[in-house]
Amino acid sequence: MITTADEELLRRAIAVAAHAVTLGDAPYGSLLAGPDGAILVEAHNTVQRDNDISAHPELKLARWAARELDPETAAHTTMYTSCQPCGMCTGGIVRSGLGRVVYALATDQLVELNPASGAWPAVAQDGPALFDEARVPIDAFYRP
Ligand SMILES: [Zn+2]
Repeated sequence: MITTADEELLRRAIAVAAHAVTLGDAPYGSLLAGPDGAILVEAHNTVQRDNDISAHPELKLARWAARELDPETAAHTTMYTSCQPCGMCTGGIVRSGLGRVVYALATDQLVELNPASGAWPAVAQDGPALFDEARVPIDAFYRP
């Protein structure tokens, strides 16, 4: 359930996205609000500026949370983001230990506004293979 307080923080994430456009960056913004609701950090998309395909604000904030927050604080920290996180960012968010994500535009809404946003092709994957060889470094690390 999205509360009035959530909507206020979502509006701030949308403002961060709008500010990104004025800097020549893509229109995506996010922030983290700690357990008391105070804003901890904000970020916007810098994919073009940084020439880095992973420079989505959600992933940058997930990495920040994993570095800077203890697990208990992370679990009670919420990410507010102007658009629903993509698959790459969702993986980072899960690994960061953040407890909740609140987004404004759903992916299908974003694609409706900008059809190119949904034009990601599937990547062919082949595997599994070479189990006995591939397990050697895994065993060496986890079963010394
Ligand atoms: Zn993303």
